[in-house]
Amino acid sequence: MDKLAEARRRIEEASRIAVLTGAGISAPSGIPTFRDPGGLWENFNIEDYATPEGFARNPEEVWRWYAWRYKKIREAEPNEAHRLLAELEKKKGDGFLLVTQNIDGLHQRAGSKRVIELHGSIHRARCTACGYRSELPPPEELEIPPRCPKCGAMMRPDVVWFGEPLPPGAFEAALAGFRSADLAMVIGTSALVEPAASLGRYAKHAGAYLIEINPEETPLTPIADLSLRAGAVEGLRALLG
Ligand code: NAD
Ligand code: ZN
Repeated sequence: MDKLAEARRRIEEASRIAVLTGAGISAPSGIPTFRDPGGLWENFNIEDYATPEGFARNPEEVWRWYAWRYKKIREAEPNEAHRLLAELEKKKGDGFLLVTQNIDGLHQRAGSKRVIELHGSIHRARCTACGYRSELPPPEELEIPPRCPKCGAMMRPDVVWFGEPLPPGAFEAALAGFRSADLAMVIGTSALVEPAASLGRYAKHAGAYLIEINPEETPLTPIADLSLRAGAVEGLRALLG
């Protein structure tokens, strides 16, 4: 049996599936990744826009950048890769877990229900003083920097920046899902940023069949049972279509 047919059979038979996605799955929706050519870090400095220190130095500038990305993300639509994963969840039920590093909310918009957002959400703000969270208003009504409705302090994007811990419990829940999976998929992530990068490795070590989908090789490629050099849409079509 060829490798692709084997992977399709494994997906069909698996009762516990854990999937990790990164910026690459939203690239076909027109949302730029971070590290690819043309990616966000080519034009913007990480230290200025995605660290607590950068925000402390210039909150308005950081908010302008997030407001711009928020608007783009609101205008974007989930793509076929998001939809294929939502359909797979419907088939597998509670045995299916989706973990994403994306902050764009496109998985939920495509219909995915059990989603762990490791890096927060661009659709929310969080108070820098009291921790209160709220949904952002539509982009045209967003005043920056937003003020906390409870205490009046400045709010920040409810996302995880470099050097910050993940939301409490998020990684632990993701890890539990990957460790108990019969099959794990890692899609559209450079697998360079920890701790998300290690989820595929944990699954593999615990005996799962590991599938990677990425147009480029990554540090996970050598240990994957099947590594598809393909975009997220083409790769998932080949596996699930
Ligand atoms: P990354 O930019 O480091 O890597 C993107 C990966 O996607 C690369 O390995 C690239 O080869 C691959 N890729 C490019 N086009 C693809 C396609 N069509 N199909 C499948 N794969 C494709 O992104 P990452 O690994 O997610 O990095 C981590 C950080 O990026 C996270 O912190 C995440 O929060 C953040 N991020 C999120 C978004 C979003 O929410 N959409 C966008 C940019 C960055
Ligand atoms: Zn507050």
